[in-house]
Amino acid sequence: MTDSNPDLHTATARTPKGLTLGTLFGIEVRLDPSIIVIFLLIVVSLAESVFPKWHPDWAWWLTWSTALVAAVLFFTSLLAHEFAHSLVARTQGIVVPRITLFVFGGMAELTAEPKSPRSELLIAIVGPLMSLLIGVSLAVIAALITPADFVDQLMADSEAAIARLGPVATICVWLAPVNVVLAVFNLIPGFPLDGGRVLRAMLWWFTGDQLRATKLAARSGRGFSWLLIAYGVTNLLWGRAIEGVWFMVIGWFLGNAAEAGYQRLLLGRALHGLVVGDLMRTRFEVIDPDFGLADFVDTRLLRSAQGLWPVVADGRFVGVISQPDVAKSVEADRGRLCVRDAMRPLASVLTVSPQLSGPDALERVAQMSDEPLPVVVNGQVVGLLHGADIFRWLALHQLRVSS
Ligand SMILES: [Zn+2]
Repeated sequence: MTDSNPDLHTATARTPKGLTLGTLFGIEVRLDPSIIVIFLLIVVSLAESVFPKWHPDWAWWLTWSTALVAAVLFFTSLLAHEFAHSLVARTQGIVVPRITLFVFGGMAELTAEPKSPRSELLIAIVGPLMSLLIGVSLAVIAALITPADFVDQLMADSEAAIARLGPVATICVWLAPVNVVLAVFNLIPGFPLDGGRVLRAMLWWFTGDQLRATKLAARSGRGFSWLLIAYGVTNLLWGRAIEGVWFMVIGWFLGNAAEAGYQRLLLGRALHGLVVGDLMRTRFEVIDPDFGLADFVDTRLLRSAQGLWPVVADGRFVGVISQPDVAKSVEADRGRLCVRDAMRPLASVLTVSPQLSGPDALERVAQMSDEPLPVVVNGQVVGLLHGADIFRWLALHQLRVSS
């Protein structure tokens, strides 16, 4: 069940959260908190159900430590799959800042969409090829370290044959097919799975139309998402609750990701040629850092629709202040505090340049919840970019984003 994790290589940067494991080849490896659930699920199912059946004579500590190592190696093989995508993406000129492992598998964050069908094909196919290579290598290792008559004995008495395996061979025998299944599952031709990306690349190559290729691959992705959900429901009806729910959740997730991937491409197309300078708000107020905090609340913040206020001292942008920043201060103290005491200093503020492209701007504002991004040139705030402004621009320029 857990070997059917789809992996996704989204072009949007999600808000980074979780634990940084380290950096390899200049790519940060992060663990999403949701990974703990799946890690525990794998360890417990191996230690409580799979390995005790294979090795009824093993001591509990051997069963559990083998299960633990097997689970760690499973995530290592997922990482290798993502690194294959990431390193090939880098040769194709795409920056990959991080790989995140989360509940549905791995996700390499590609900062841009591939520029050609050839790039896309290469980036997409190497992941499953890596999983296949790992699977075959583990099978070879297993063949080398098992007794010569293992296969004959497996045919005659499979339980006795497996019971003779040591911990290393046991891990190989479990992990090899898991990696092969991982490769096969990811080759399902539904966008944004690897197979869907391969399909998109081939349609794109064949028709020369990336948008149409994406539309078809995304439609195929939604089709497969319904199949997975149907398979989940069937499992549920047969009393296999965990598998049933798991496939339904994966199906639902895949369907959403297919839709989101397509919409993102449409939006990127609509915003092509635009820069932040075209989209930002230029009518806004600023506040001096020495302005009294109580006065700021009574005479400015509450009198305006503006949510985020750039703090400017002698023409220099020094920080920002918003309602949540003020709310952190004790009301009774505000009479003797000034804006500087409650503001967020520049070092902790994300800013953008007016030259940033529209599609990149969309990715940046997607990282913010509601807060606009200050647009800065040479230390001066020249505008504020709100997520909603991008859609307002599209609406006012009669560009409908529809499928
Ligand atoms: Zn992949």
